[in-house]
Amino acid sequence: MRIRGRSGRRSAGRARLWFDGTMHTVDSSRTPGAPGIHRLFANGRVHAFAGSSKVAEAAEAAEAGDPAEAVLVSDGRVVAVGSAHELRDRAGAAPVDEVDLEGRIVLPGFVDAHLHAVSTASTISEVDIRQVRSLRAAVDTVAAHAATLPPGEWVTGGRWDSNTWDMGRGGSYQPDRGLLDEAVPDRPVALWSIDYHTLWLNGAALEAVGIHDDTPNPVGGEIVRDGSGRATGILREDAATIAERAMPALSLDQRAQNMRMAQRKWLAEGLTGVHDIDGAASQEAWDALRANDGLLMRVVKYLRLDELEWARAVGWRTGDQVGRRRTSPTGMPEPALSWDDPARDGWFVRGGLKLFSDGALGSQTSYMTDPFPTRPGEDHLPNYGLPIAGEDLLVEQITEALQAGISLAVHAIGDRANHHVLRAFSRTRAASREAEARYDRPLRHRIEHAQFVRPEEVRLFAQMGIVASMQPRHCISDLHLLDSLRPDPRLAAYAWKDLLAAGAPVAFGSDGPVEPTDPFAAIYAAMTRADFGGDPSTTFEPGRRIPAWDAIAAHTSGAAYAAGLEGTVGTLAPGMAADLIAVDVDPLRADGGSGVTGEYASEEALFEHAEAVRDATVHLTAVAGEVAFARV
Ligand SMILES: [Zn+2]
Repeated sequence: MRIRGRSGRRSAGRARLWFDGTMHTVDSSRTPGAPGIHRLFANGRVHAFAGSSKVAEAAEAAEAGDPAEAVLVSDGRVVAVGSAHELRDRAGAAPVDEVDLEGRIVLPGFVDAHLHAVSTASTISEVDIRQVRSLRAAVDTVAAHAATLPPGEWVTGGRWDSNTWDMGRGGSYQPDRGLLDEAVPDRPVALWSIDYHTLWLNGAALEAVGIHDDTPNPVGGEIVRDGSGRATGILREDAATIAERAMPALSLDQRAQNMRMAQRKWLAEGLTGVHDIDGAASQEAWDALRANDGLLMRVVKYLRLDELEWARAVGWRTGDQVGRRRTSPTGMPEPALSWDDPARDGWFVRGGLKLFSDGALGSQTSYMTDPFPTRPGEDHLPNYGLPIAGEDLLVEQITEALQAGISLAVHAIGDRANHHVLRAFSRTRAASREAEARYDRPLRHRIEHAQFVRPEEVRLFAQMGIVASMQPRHCISDLHLLDSLRPDPRLAAYAWKDLLAAGAPVAFGSDGPVEPTDPFAAIYAAMTRADFGGDPSTTFEPGRRIPAWDAIAAHTSGAAYAAGLEGTVGTLAPGMAADLIAVDVDPLRADGGSGVTGEYASEEALFEHAEAVRDATVHLTAVAGEVAFARV
């Protein structure tokens, strides 16, 4: 959903910092056929996801006799998949280093197509009130955390979900500064809602960010006030953004340190690549890591709207890439390898521009055709959500990006927002084709979330080749909202199945830190559409479940396609990057059914398999053929 890097503003000073020391050399050892050490990942069961179709993959998975058991790698790329003795022959006289997979299942490494990298990493040190179930418990947890901090330091974090609080009143109650001021009067407190669309501040924080009772609402945002006109401490959408920008940023060292730890966690979960949707604060942290050999996985870096001018100035084009390492300390602009450069390896790739068209369901700011339900006694105007950018403004923003050779990723949750974005993409199709021709590369456009789509518009994703960038965990986290907010049941809701059936490209991710990054939990959500505990009665629209095969493909090759990297990562075909994982559960094979077809003997058999997948343990993760994580 919506996360802003805490130093989202790009001052001139920051821009210069970003220019620092970024010359790099091209690794010439990647020449195809060059002699080098081969590595054989042997004694596994390999699902390469490289078959010409799902049916071919099914035939392979069903083959009882001699499934592919090994992957031969050279210079970071897959040479071949097959039996170990065959591949040892293939390596010939070249030295072979062997890794024993101990019978585990091998899959392509997962790519998280929508991750807020620096925000997710920073949650490591912030207060977490996701699990509390009342206002009192939230305030007590925050006060206890505040007591551990040095005097004057901000309390940040939060992740509160008042929809789950026991308030004796139900619905979408939102807290205010009152209890927070009593519990923590002496330092600023700023707490994000679970969807990062609403900020809850105490009085000290309101003062610190300069928001007063008479501060006018910004465009696209709201400073909530009580009956007497006093700011309650709740800021919605762009009002929250403004406050966030006035909050102190984590130092670059802290951010880089957090990201170093977070990468290790993501590798252990089976991720070998991420599409980072966070802004400049994240880019700076990645640059610092790259300068110190700290980039451990492949990154596609997206831009924020307020970075567009800067991006144009430095010649940022979607699909260009910079080196895994920064090797020059000088203050030169960083040279990039263009789209068709044979030395590209997909380590750090320039992505598109992220735009917003609406808010989120839980905050009742997703832009809908039908208004949100009102409760008895409420007499305010109907709430249709909040259009952050309408069709015409989107057309302007899209056109400007396209002129610079930059693709688009537009946040849209409500059906009306998705309608506007699809219209805007339709109106800019010619400009997009021109930009693709001028810059000689594909520009893949995406809609982020695509949670509620008008059924007749599902096919437009396929017709225009718009990637539906979706997060299966949102569906099962939203189960309670889907009850209380009752969107029109005719809408195609969390409709990855409909989109795939229509032929639309679908990419999966987590939207971390909104949801946990574990890709196996996402596969479970896509397979069941039921609560995380495995209760079948909680299923939201079982007809929209998909087989594990489709969910894994969306989380690997689908995510690669969304960034134009389908020729580099996402399958274990020869020539592809050797990004792979070994796990203890086979998501394609089950006793009572099949993870390829999604057909199971019973609901119990489906849940048994889906829960095993959810709980799968990653034992090994390799990026470019190097073991980046191994469970001991
Ligand atoms: Zn997001």
